Amino acid sequence: MTGITASDDFALAIHGGAGTILRSKMTPEREAAYHAGLRRSLEAGRAVLAEGGSALDAVSAAVMALEDEPLFNAGRGAVYTSAGKQEMDAAVMDGRDRAAGAVAGICGPRNPILAARAVMEHSGHVVLIGESALEFCRAQGLAFEEPSYFYTEQRWQALQETLAMRKSGADDGDESRKHGTVGAVARDRSGNLAAATSTGGMTAKSPGRVGDSPVIGAGTWADNETCAISATGHGEIFIRYAAAHEIASRMRYAGQSLEEASRAVVIDMLAPAGGSGGIIAVDHAGNVSLPFNCSGMYRGVVRGDGVLRTAIYDEPLISFQGR
Ligand code: ASP
Repeated sequence: MTGITASDDFALAIHGGAGTILRSKMTPEREAAYHAGLRRSLEAGRAVLAEGGSALDAVSAAVMALEDEPLFNAGRGAVYTSAGKQEMDAAVMDGRDRAAGAVAGICGPRNPILAARAVMEHSGHVVLIGESALEFCRAQGLAFEEPSYFYTEQRWQALQETLAMRKSGADDGDESRKHGTVGAVARDRSGNLAAATSTGGMTAKSPGRVGDSPVIGAGTWADNETCAISATGHGEIFIRYAAAHEIASRMRYAGQSLEEASRAVVIDMLAPAGGSGGIIAVDHAGNVSLPFNCSGMYRGVVRGDGVLRTAIYDEPLISFQGR
């Protein structure tokens, strides 16, 4: 079951990517580390919403916490292109007025989600890419880091394994080697929605490849009248099916509930098309939906009661109360 009943209070949902480590390869220590990383992100977003802050600030704070955590494929810990470089994509959208900002193919800003937000708030544009995006971020005074900050042995090894498999024509089907992304969606106490997504993309992607995360309507969407969505999965398919916007459209024009629309897209539309992955979604009433069509999706939810709920595999969310 992926649906969670609405309440009048705030709602925040996060993901740390679909394409999780296979259960057979997971250790209790690693599993605990993933849950802890998700809880830190939920707590960062919850703190904003509990003080009456905006959904936009909450999703930014939640995604920053995930970008800072090397376990997830965004910011620190981003995956490598086939050329051994990191190229990050991020987007943010404000459901109040559909303001949106995105960056693609960047490496340098410590928190790519802040780069996307700066584009939204200060550039007059929606998407900036590559070197020019970096120049803009420097002019905005964003914090930068050296490549060594973003490096993780695990992602570097994943690249070597992927390149070796490509050469030999083999594929072990291990999604955790290929993907990951982080994202957050929120409804604040004023009923406003926002979404944010940040990613290193897919391991061994071609240099210059841009996935769904920074494409508004594919991997990221927010519109107060319908829902806020952040996606994770095989980006090319999510772009071709305009996944996030498709969910919003089903709600707007076909009168489907958040749960119906998101399951129809993730399970019935993307899966048969080869679009392995999932989405997190929240609607104007505060309902949350977290469907995925693969082995798992690092995910979590928090509401006004402050209980942090997280899960990885096809399992109920595990509650964590102590703060
Ligand atoms: N959607 C991301 C991309 O295609 C990757 C992922 O979420 O696994 O860049």
